[in-house]
Amino acid sequence: MKLTLTNTLTRKKEEFTPIDDKNVRMYVCGVTPYNYAQLGNARPAVIFDVLFRLLRHMYGENHVSYARNFTDIDDKIIARANELGEDPQALAERYIKAYHEDVEALNCLPPSHEPRATEVVSEIIGMVQTLVDKGIAYVTPTGDVNYDVTKAPKRNDYTYGDLSGKKIDELIAGARVDVDEHKKNAGDFALWKAVKPGEPKWESPWGQGRPGWHIECSAMTKKLFGDHFDIHAGGEDLQFPHHENEIAQSEGECGHKHVNYWMHNAFITVDGRRMGKSMGNFITIKEARTKYSGEAIRLWLLQTHYRKPVDFSEDALAAAENRIKKINKHMMKMFKQSEIRQEVGTDNFTRSQEVLEKFEQALKNDLNTSVALSLLDQELKYLDKYSNENKIKAHAESKSVVQTMLHLLGLNPFLRGYEEKSETIEHNKLKQTIIETQIAARNTARANKDWAESDRIRDELAEQGILLEDGPKGTTWRRK
Ligand SMILES: [Zn+2]
Repeated sequence: MKLTLTNTLTRKKEEFTPIDDKNVRMYVCGVTPYNYAQLGNARPAVIFDVLFRLLRHMYGENHVSYARNFTDIDDKIIARANELGEDPQALAERYIKAYHEDVEALNCLPPSHEPRATEVVSEIIGMVQTLVDKGIAYVTPTGDVNYDVTKAPKRNDYTYGDLSGKKIDELIAGARVDVDEHKKNAGDFALWKAVKPGEPKWESPWGQGRPGWHIECSAMTKKLFGDHFDIHAGGEDLQFPHHENEIAQSEGECGHKHVNYWMHNAFITVDGRRMGKSMGNFITIKEARTKYSGEAIRLWLLQTHYRKPVDFSEDALAAAENRIKKINKHMMKMFKQSEIRQEVGTDNFTRSQEVLEKFEQALKNDLNTSVALSLLDQELKYLDKYSNENKIKAHAESKSVVQTMLHLLGLNPFLRGYEEKSETIEHNKLKQTIIETQIAARNTARANKDWAESDRIRDELAEQGILLEDGPKGTTWRRK
């Protein structure tokens, strides 16, 4: 089955065909590190991590490139840094570190690239210059460079406003966007901002200044992925103005379509209202992690389809934590059976492959993670049934299916735990010499008629699963 994804631009579920299946490229807008990341930021991180895992599974680990950026120069960073009397870059650095801790706890794979806006300032200046040269952007008397939305490129299948469903006439005439006497149209936006006292600045052909927000992502994608790549994603609040403006900039500059699939995840809500700073009802990922495990937060997010709002409540998170504990319990049970070898017939192999196929189909169906999770539950129950009946003690195929499922969903901290436990078993095997040393010590105790010491050693070994048998040829041992 082919992968289908909902393309925000066409509002349709489309079959995914990569431009180059040896180099599948996905860019996801990351955070502005001016504070701890909000729980809302966890959703795109987790959802597109699952897509990254799925693409790697489909095209091979070395054939997928995923970039998630940091907007490390921004009004919010400057404002917060001034408030705290801190250097804006030092502040950004601090919160980038905190964000990394958050996404690691959510078990997101490190992206292939984590570009920062401040690393691409020369590319930004180059793009802005091209837009000025083409007459799409204009320089104001104060040294700003603005994008003229009436000059945005038109294609057969795209006009400025199509991504977000805004009408360009309204954008041009509307006074909703900040009023600026040097703007030709109310909807024009800044590509370059002239320096203001106390702000970070770079030299440019238009004088000292700093980049606007939208052009930063256009420059980062161009630098990493060129003028045409596969997937561009982010939270649905980024559709306008951020992503609409990115299309206008990138396509104005290169002269053709630059992204094939636009994807957006829905919000997190609280009592049906969007969780967010402006609503005053948000919590940070860091705060959520003090109460719930990163895995539970991840699972809670995956229980709902990414295009639907997911409602935050303590009950929902607590239920996710319980579900995680249950999965963990199953995994530990599986581990305990790991040493027992079992012949597995072809019937079971076929069954397992069918289950895995269904699971992959769910994910390939526009990332239907909730169906995928229910298939995982079913498979765990199946394994459990056999271990309870003690008919089939180990179920190699089923186990490998479960492992693949957990890996694709990114719930594999348990696998890590599982492997660690397996290592413990290996380690125990190596403890043979220690066991033999203890038997020798017990023999000495017995020779000295020190029965208490002899029994203590025997009981201690029994506790570790080692049974001693005294025979005419001396003491032998076996595992329980
Ligand atoms: Zn962006």
